[in-house]
Amino acid sequence: LTENLRRAEGYIAHFAQTGVRNHIGGESVAAASGATFDTLSPVDLKPLAKVAKGGVEDIDRAVAAAKEAFKTWSKMPGTDRRKLLIKVAEAIEANAERIAFTECLDTGQALRFMSKAALRGAANFRFFADKAPAAEDGQALRNATQMNVTSRRPIGPVGVITPWNTPFMLSTWKIAPALAAGCTVVHKPAEFSPMTAKLLVEIAEEAGLPRGVLNLVNGYGEDAGKRLTEHPDIKAIAFVGESRTGSMIMAQGAATLKRVHFELGGKNPVIVFDDADIDRAVDAASFMIYSLNGERCTSSSRLLVQENIYDEVCTRVAKVAANIKVGHPLDPETVVGPLIHPEHEAKVLSYFETARKEGATIATGGKKVGDQGCYVAPTLFTQARNDMTIAQEEIFGPVLTAIPFADEDEALALANDVDYGLAAYLWTADLDRAMRMTDALEAGMIWVNSENVRHLPSPFGGVKASGIGRDGGDWSFDFYMETVNVSFPR
Ligand code: NAD
Repeated sequence: LTENLRRAEGYIAHFAQTGVRNHIGGESVAAASGATFDTLSPVDLKPLAKVAKGGVEDIDRAVAAAKEAFKTWSKMPGTDRRKLLIKVAEAIEANAERIAFTECLDTGQALRFMSKAALRGAANFRFFADKAPAAEDGQALRNATQMNVTSRRPIGPVGVITPWNTPFMLSTWKIAPALAAGCTVVHKPAEFSPMTAKLLVEIAEEAGLPRGVLNLVNGYGEDAGKRLTEHPDIKAIAFVGESRTGSMIMAQGAATLKRVHFELGGKNPVIVFDDADIDRAVDAASFMIYSLNGERCTSSSRLLVQENIYDEVCTRVAKVAANIKVGHPLDPETVVGPLIHPEHEAKVLSYFETARKEGATIATGGKKVGDQGCYVAPTLFTQARNDMTIAQEEIFGPVLTAIPFADEDEALALANDVDYGLAAYLWTADLDRAMRMTDALEAGMIWVNSENVRHLPSPFGGVKASGIGRDGGDWSFDFYMETVNVSFPR
């Protein structure tokens, strides 16, 4: 830990001196107003750096830069964009430690997960780079009298608005396909975790990305974010964040008929039947809620267990939770680090009181750890019902709510009885049951007898209040591109 701390301090020293500035048209700049805000360390709540507080003027400048750069970037052959984006991927790999250490300090996420997240950022660039040459391809459709030729073109400059959980990986997941499609980008990262977005644009430009293709404006959602969603020259908004923010963005973008893509919240069930491989189910359910601090949209936050194995499964999950190492994010042994910010910590802690009031049992955890920083104990609520607040609201911390069910019908009813529909996890040895359940579960992504394993060509996204649209594979290009049909007589 001591050595990691020393290296991490080296990596963020320049931010302490210059602050986290905006990045517009290839220039690192302060906010037009000169205003700043602090980004805090969740470890000890001390300010890590001053961050440029962008507003309307900064967004307008960034959009103008993106609009100018679009003229050449959108016309560059896909094979050339591919070469450049591969160089960006290589540069991310070369800087993976710097990115991971910075992200740990800025977000509180444990190093063991952030090292992988930085490399996943490179994988996102590589994956979409390889798809760039064929991004414009369409198809020929003909009948007796007409030949129709379809093709795709980049939609224009786009806005990308991201949240504070795994911010580097998530930003690359949205930005890489936009750039591969030929769009230029204005990125507004979350105010709680701005540092690695600045690293990304710097690393990308050092690797050869032309100026103005990727622009960064920091600031609050209600000013910088809002202006981005309302700007007439921004053709689409890719947003990752809370469901209620998604509603606001949809309203803000209505006047300019903004195309939107939303990846929103979740309250994802992990459903365990008595014929399942219990060892694996316990491992996976614990991993999906207690890794990444539980600050994860696809976390398995509701554990639905068949009643005859409910006590056994809960006892085993509680044991796992009680033994999890909570500690400094840069300690290689740490699994759960501090939550992102005192405001978010207060929200998570408030559910412990709610659980008690609603009559659930706190089987383990349910308290703050230590008196410094935003550390919260991995928690399991048992004897819960699905109509309790702790089973309905997204807590977004290392907090799991376990609910018993009698049979398949009840499991399905409980699983679907929430506003959200992002992911579901199903554990059973019965293939027929798996087919029936997966057919009826209201979720955009369902994993059977598996934790969340990502496959970049597969679609990622949610139904109900969890989102609109899909990322991954060609789905990302459907969002960032317009399909045009040209018809000829035969
Ligand atoms: P948030 O909605 O509070 O903020 C996300 C971003 O939106 C921030 O950059 C913020 O500044 C901006 N914003 C806020 N108000 C805005 C406005 N009026 N106009 C434009 N921009 C605005 O979300 P958060 O708390 O940062 O992130 C946590 C949430 O993100 C959770 O709900 C989580 O489930 C969700 N999430 C979803 C996915 C997914 O893939 N479905 C992935 C990660 C996180």
